[in-house]
Amino acid sequence: ALDVATNLLGDDLPKAELKRIVEHTIQFDAPLVELEHNIYALELFHGPTLAFKDFGARFMSQLLGYFAKQQQQEIIILVATSGDTGSAVANGFLGVPGTKVVVLYPSGKVSEIQEKQFTTLGKNVTALEINGTFDDCQHLVKQAFLDPDLKQKYFLTSANSINIARLIPQSFYYFYAYSRLPTKTNPVIFSVPSGNFGNITGGLLAKRMGLPIDKFVACTNINDVVPQYLSSRSFTPRASQQTISNAMDVGNPSNFVRMLDLFQGDFENLSNEIVGFAFTDEQTEAAMREVFARNKYVMDPHGAVAYLGLKEYLKPSANEIGVFLETAHPAKFKEVVDETLNTSVPIPEELQRFLQHPKKSIPLSSEYQVFKDFLNATFV
Ligand SMILES: *Cc1c(COP(=O)(O)O)cnc(C)c1O
Repeated sequence: ALDVATNLLGDDLPKAELKRIVEHTIQFDAPLVELEHNIYALELFHGPTLAFKDFGARFMSQLLGYFAKQQQQEIIILVATSGDTGSAVANGFLGVPGTKVVVLYPSGKVSEIQEKQFTTLGKNVTALEINGTFDDCQHLVKQAFLDPDLKQKYFLTSANSINIARLIPQSFYYFYAYSRLPTKTNPVIFSVPSGNFGNITGGLLAKRMGLPIDKFVACTNINDVVPQYLSSRSFTPRASQQTISNAMDVGNPSNFVRMLDLFQGDFENLSNEIVGFAFTDEQTEAAMREVFARNKYVMDPHGAVAYLGLKEYLKPSANEIGVFLETAHPAKFKEVVDETLNTSVPIPEELQRFLQHPKKSIPLSSEYQVFKDFLNATFV
């Protein structure tokens, strides 16, 4: 990770700082688990909030903390969340000097486990429980960024997945996984469960830096705007639909333009490197059951979508090695997993710790003026 980070950021901050940031970011493993012959799960859920977003959020918070030291004003991070982003970002920035985090989330629309991960922290993290939808939360944040009064008064920044400081660390684990493969002679395929397509963009960056990845499989649930694009050449965003892999319920993936830009907007080049598949909840559940029965391995619904895509892609060939990214610990989606597999996944200690603390949130309407008044009253 330090080699990759130095390659990209070596001119921007001292090596010792970068080393400290990388070491702080990655204090957990990313095990590569062989499920079947030449099929591996890359487990990216061993960080503090048990989802792959810990890599990006922790790296970004340390990087921003470093640059915050060089300026007088504190940095206020606004983040709208439907669940996973809020917890990773809040935990990443917790206690980072010079930063304040405001998490906006839709009241009653995130799971208890998710909610507890950003409402029990205190310190520099404030949770706003918005009487509205995720789109309302996102809208409030976007309006704040465009508000000249706020822009003049505060140093506001976003922590969403198009932030390059979140994307860069998402290239690290592709190198790591590749380095752990027992053989380097076969073509290597990475299958990525995708929502805003930040994770797969991290992989594309890794390939541009020289990692010999043969192909990417972009997998979605029924929110299949990108697989549709790959088969029809037409990119048609639409309203998202709810699924059991809800961190991928995205109707207008925000990293699509960046992906396209990596290929100079050329469809042929892009579709040479990326193939896309979409799966229904029923197919996802069937895959979870099949792998559980055969391998005694519990996949979360997001990882299961990537597993399905990998199997679909690998069908015609025999000598390829496939890695699918397992992006969340199954206990994060306990209800779905327990019901699908007729089992009870144990809740890891990290998650239980959050559950023991009382929730602290500030209820707010979804009116912009109310949000603005809150910011003005809270921050100097
Ligand atoms: C955010 C998330 C995804 C989607 O990642 P993108 O970078 O938005 O494509 C997949 N799985 C889980 C568990 C997530 O939290």
